[in-house]
Parts: sequence; C-alpha cells; structure tokens
Amino acid sequence: MKYKSKKEFLDSVVDNYSDQKEFHQAVEEVIHSIWNTAANNEEYCKFNILDRIVVPDRIIIFRVPWMDDKNNVHVNLGYRIQFNSAIGPYKGGLRFHPSVNLGILKFLAFEQVFKNSLTGLNLGGGKGGSNFDPKGKSDKEIMSFCYAFMNELYRHIGRRTDIPAGDIGVGAKEIGFMFGQYKKIRNAFTGVLTGKGTNWGGSLIRPEATGYGLVYFVVEMMKTRKHSIKGKTVTVSGSGNVAQFACEKLIELGAKPVTLSDSSGFIHDPDGITQEKIEYVKKLKSVRSARISEYAKKYNVKYTKGKRPWSIKCDIALPCATENELNLDDAKELTGNGCYVVAEGANMPSTTDAVHHFINKKILYGPGKAANAGGVAISGIEMSQNSTRIPLSREKVDGLLKEIMQRVHRTCVKYGDKGDFINYVDGANIGGFVRVADSMIDQGIV
Ligand code: NDP
Repeated sequence: MKYKSKKEFLDSVVDNYSDQKEFHQAVEEVIHSIWNTAANNEEYCKFNILDRIVVPDRIIIFRVPWMDDKNNVHVNLGYRIQFNSAIGPYKGGLRFHPSVNLGILKFLAFEQVFKNSLTGLNLGGGKGGSNFDPKGKSDKEIMSFCYAFMNELYRHIGRRTDIPAGDIGVGAKEIGFMFGQYKKIRNAFTGVLTGKGTNWGGSLIRPEATGYGLVYFVVEMMKTRKHSIKGKTVTVSGSGNVAQFACEKLIELGAKPVTLSDSSGFIHDPDGITQEKIEYVKKLKSVRSARISEYAKKYNVKYTKGKRPWSIKCDIALPCATENELNLDDAKELTGNGCYVVAEGANMPSTTDAVHHFINKKILYGPGKAANAGGVAISGIEMSQNSTRIPLSREKVDGLLKEIMQRVHRTCVKYGDKGDFINYVDGANIGGFVRVADSMIDQGIV
C-alpha cells in the first residue's frame, strides 16, 4: 500500500485539489468506508485503484455565449466531467445553477460512479452543467442558452459514450431544447439524453423515478425493523422534481408529508400535503422563479422564511433540495424529536458531522447514492428502450424501479450489516466500489 494511513491519502486529495471542498467531502465519506477493503486487497494495491478512482477520466470546460431578449450577450461556463467508464458509458445529470463550479460537479460525478454501480446496470459515472441561472429567464432565453451549451457539448457525448440527463435547473424543457440542437448538429436521432418527452423516446416514470425510488428505498429500510410507512409523518425539503414525486408516493402509501421548501424558506402543513396540493405545487414550480411561500397563502398554513424544515417533528425526514442542507444541529433536532429514518433524495444533503450523528444514533440513514439511485436507474431503462425501440408500459417500468431499489437495498445490507444495525453508508460505498474496482483491474491500466 502506497499510503501509510487513510489520513495520508485524504491529505493528498486535499493538497491536489485545494479549492474543491465538496469534492473532498465526498471522497472522505467514501474512503472512510472502503479503506479496509481497498488497503487489504493485494490486487487493488498493485493496480493503485485508490489513486486512480479519485481522478476523472477527463474534464471538459467550455465557453457558452448566448444572447438575452434585449440583445445583450452573456458568457457562462459549461462543464462535463467524465469520471469513470469502467462499467459503462458515462451517465449523470446536467445542473444549471449559479453555484455550479468544478468542485461541486466533481463531487456529483464521483458520487455518480458508485450510485450507478449500485443499480447493477452498465452505467459509468459523469456529471455536468453550467453556472447559468434559469430563474427569471424567458423560454426564448433558456432555449438560446441550451442551444449554445449543446453547440460545444455535442462533440463529447453520444449514446455509447456519455448520456447526460437532468438535475437542478434542468427538466423536460431544457432536455428538449438540448436534444433538438444535438439532433440538428449531428443529423441523428439517438438516445443521447435521458429524461426526454414520451413522444420522442422518453420513458414513462422517468420524471417520477427519483422520488418514487426514494420512497421504495425507505419502505425497504423500514422492513428491516418490521415497520410500515403507513401513517408516518414525513418532513420533505425542496419542492422540485424529487420532492414532488417523493410526496406523491408517500401519499399513495398512506404516509403524511407535512413540509416542502425552496431556497427562500419552508411551509408546514400539519394536516398533510394531499395529491391535490401536490398538483398545485407541480404547476406552481413549473415556473422556476415561483416561491413555495405561495402554497402557504393558498392553503393558509405557516411559512418560515430563510429556514429549512428540520425543526418539525417527524418519523421520517427526506432531504430533497441540495447539498449540505442538513447540518449537525439539524440532525440533533431531528433525532431529538423522534425521527428515526433519514433518506436522501438530494445528493450529499447532510454534512459530514450530521451523517456521523445519524450513524452513532443507529437510526435508519440512507445516503443519496443509494436512496436516490432510482432516477439514473430509469434513465438506464430509457436507454434500453431507445436501443430496442420498444417502449415499456408504466406498470413495467414502475416494477423495474421497485426491483432495482430492492437490489440497491440488498447490496447495502450485504456490505453494511453490523449485526445490531445496518450502516447504509458503508454498504453503499463498499458495494458500489467493489464492482468498479474489479472492472478497472479487468481492463488493465487505462
Ligand atoms: P429541481 O431543480 O427540480 O428542484 C430543486 C429544489 O431544490 C428546488 O425546490 C430549489 O429551490 C431547491 N434548492 C436548490 N438549490 C437550493 C439551495 N442552495 N438551498 C435551498 N434549496 C435549494 O431539482 P431536482 O429536484 O431534480 O434535484 C434536487 C436534488 O436531487 C439535487 O441534489 C439533485 O442532484 C438530486 N437528484 C436529482 C435527480 C433527478 O432525477 N432529478 C436524481 C438524483 C438526485 P429554488 O426553487 O429556490 O431554487
């Protein structure tokens, strides 16, 4: 082993990428789990898997010039991180948000490698996006930006190379514009993006998949304690794609979601968010600049400005907004109020010390790379429908989603069972790592 200790290895990552704090956080979490597995395996050491797995295959950064409705010219940065293709073509979303930078996208792409491995599908890991802010932009401006973004990205992606999808700020509309431009430039209709409209190659249940899959994962976690989700009170953060469909599935299974949030604040609806209210949120949030505070006005419930919903008493908490939105104080407040299930719809929403708190308390804590794997899994199913040209029914895709989430859960239990509780962080990291590391060894030093 090249490194004397875990610390020496982690210090080397920090030294090499000093300004990428979210990436350090993601690497540290994985390394804590996989250290013994990696350091005690002669083959992994001989092939220097640890050093190799934290370096992306390639990083593409490019200029995105576009014109607004008043004929002003703007420039944003575009990125695609192609992190690891040991088990399949790069796969992962595109994020359009002003906070996007290299460190954030590297953390997301790194996480994606393990997540995609856990699904059991042949998908490598990647992520991309831009610091473009879609909020307050007209449809014409969004289209103009998406075209400009694809004018460069097209040369780096392809259905056998790299298949991007959506993420924060990139939904069906943006995927449509980017797909249209890719098709025009390449003169080829291929499944190069997922999350497409169902009229032109999209899969049924793809929009719902991350949120539904999250709840299926929670059901599996609760089964390990012979508990049912029915009747449980659930706090949810975010009010975008993942949060909306998580609520929808919770309602269907008889649980009671009571909160939603956005970057401005959160609403608390103690009577429970119903399907009718979720339909309202879907419509409201189809305009990106709309605020969740409108919900409070419409349904006469409490809105708390500038705060997240973790002070509200619940059995289950589902962070579904963004990274580092749940800190140690929040974690203590949640468990202090009786919350015993936390499952992450968002990527890395809990800070490192919050995660340690959940593990020390031995609650059911499902990290994002396992709990939110349903989205990419159904993207994989969309790819296979595009290849075979045979669309699957809603029931079939939903059944596959459930099956895949159960498989992800089984892998977590296999590698994370500590006897008196299941450490899902170890389970997800080791389960995801072994498959990728073994495949890297099979393919030599590339
Ligand atoms: P959306 O853009 O649909 O919604 C994002 C939600 O999060 C909005 O409510 C938004 O509020 C809120 N949010 C964004 N940034 C912040 C912030 N800095 N602080 C507080 N709230 C914020 O995105 P998704 O629902 O698709 O994604 C949510 C999370 O789930 C992300 O972490 C994403 O990576 C992850 N994820 C998504 C998948 C998918 O299939 N879509 C798959 C797997 C993971 P506001 O409107 O104010 O910006």
